[in-house]
Amino acid sequence: MGGAASASFIQRQLPAGHLPSTELPLEDVIRWMRSRRLALPALGVAAALTLAACTAGSQAKTATSPQASVRPGPNRPAGSLMLDAAQAGWRLPTPLQRAVALADGGSQDVEANSIVIATGSDIISLPGVEIDEKQIVSSTGALSLDKVPEKLLIVGAGVIGLELGSVWHRLGAAVTVVEFLDRILPGMDGEVAKQFQRILEKQGFAFKLGAKVTGVETAGKKLVAQIEPAAGGKAETLEADVVLVAIGRVPYTDGLGLKEAGVALDNRGRVQIDAHFSTSVKGISAIGDVVAGPMLAHKAEDEGVAVAEILAGQAGHVNYDVIPGVVYTTPEVSAVGKTEEELKQAGVAYTSGKFPFTANGRSKVNQTTEGFVKVLADAKTDRVLGVHIVGREAGEMIHEAAVLMEFGGSAEDLARTCHAHPTRSEAIKEAALAVGKRAIHM
Ligand SMILES: Cc1cc2nc3c(=O)[nH]c(=O)nc-3n(C[C@H](O)[C@H](O)[C@H](O)COP(=O)(O)OP(=O)(O)OC[C@H]3O[C@@H](n4cnc5c(N)ncnc54)[C@H](O)[C@@H]3O)c2cc1C
Repeated sequence: MGGAASASFIQRQLPAGHLPSTELPLEDVIRWMRSRRLALPALGVAAALTLAACTAGSQAKTATSPQASVRPGPNRPAGSLMLDAAQAGWRLPTPLQRAVALADGGSQDVEANSIVIATGSDIISLPGVEIDEKQIVSSTGALSLDKVPEKLLIVGAGVIGLELGSVWHRLGAAVTVVEFLDRILPGMDGEVAKQFQRILEKQGFAFKLGAKVTGVETAGKKLVAQIEPAAGGKAETLEADVVLVAIGRVPYTDGLGLKEAGVALDNRGRVQIDAHFSTSVKGISAIGDVVAGPMLAHKAEDEGVAVAEILAGQAGHVNYDVIPGVVYTTPEVSAVGKTEEELKQAGVAYTSGKFPFTANGRSKVNQTTEGFVKVLADAKTDRVLGVHIVGREAGEMIHEAAVLMEFGGSAEDLARTCHAHPTRSEAIKEAALAVGKRAIHM
């Protein structure tokens, strides 16, 4: 750790909103938190948050071994600290004392009461398809293409593939999506996915479901993809200007030396944690994409808050049954809670109420009548177990369902809550009424 630093030093060094860097002693951290009017109970976690603080951009300047180099990682800000055990070496005696490589050269020894691993995720690459981020791209390259491709081939009909496909399609690209499974949006409600596929097809999307891309070759300025039925059979080729590989993401744990530290991973390479975000090594916690659960920013954020609360001696908690998910396309898709498929698989008796936007006044006036709201409720207790929306503004509308579910509310509660007219949200009330087969405007 570096030497003592004064509060004025901290104020000089830290951009507003950033946490103090590892070089600051705790009393200065406390002064800094007070100056920012941060709650004192959070003080206990200051040391634990230092690594997160470093990746958030605090500029530590205590390089001591210039020979240590740094491997490139996803989205690392220049000048930030990186935990890179493979480079810096495990020369320190306990897992809570770590050599940290600096992005601009050198390394720094860091000691903390707690360490939180929050290194995120990385793309899954497709064997036989080499990503150059220009013509054969991941989501990173797809966000910065220098012109609209005439033909865009997307490998994978998951959230990221469809979102980016929707963007480029609206800009003029002819989009074909190849998906291994026989459906789009795996993990989301099947009926919603089917309806959404129909909407996208109406817009001009082409889907090849139950098919896999086995290779991509360059042919002059064009690309040629080899496509085979997932179950085997006759292969075909498809020409494209750009191929986007969006077949999923994996936890990013490279270079952390987790094995040497004794931090256990599960069978999918995710850092294993208990209900309190603790890994198999005392003092090391993990959150976000690197642990189980949906790879979503708001899930990672809530876990970050919860782990900070826990380390401060409070009761941090994330309700994994109520994490909304949104597909940011036009129109949008949103969901919270269980899908019908999940309820069937779990053997839960449920009732379902559906209401189409074609029968919703606001949607009719605005000519945005595509899609529907579906409410799934426990057949015995009427407790809402899942809500699924496809249609304009679905991502905004889902949160009233999330609040209801946080309070363990029923379809009847939702149905009896007065909704302003004319709004699209009335469709949620109507879908809740439809659970009891008494929708008003149908
Ligand atoms: C194209 C795309 C679109 C997305 N859109 C959405 C969306 O609309 N809504 C949503 O909820 N989610 C979205 N996500 C998912 C979301 O980005 C992630 O779920 C979220 O960022 C996970 O947060 P995290 O803190 O776990 O990891 P990250 O946000 O990835 O942060 C991890 C950080 O750790 C750093 N790091 C890695 N290794 C080291 C090391 N050894 N030392 C130091 N630092 C290291 C990385 O550089 C990175 O800055 C999207 C993802 C992608 C790829």
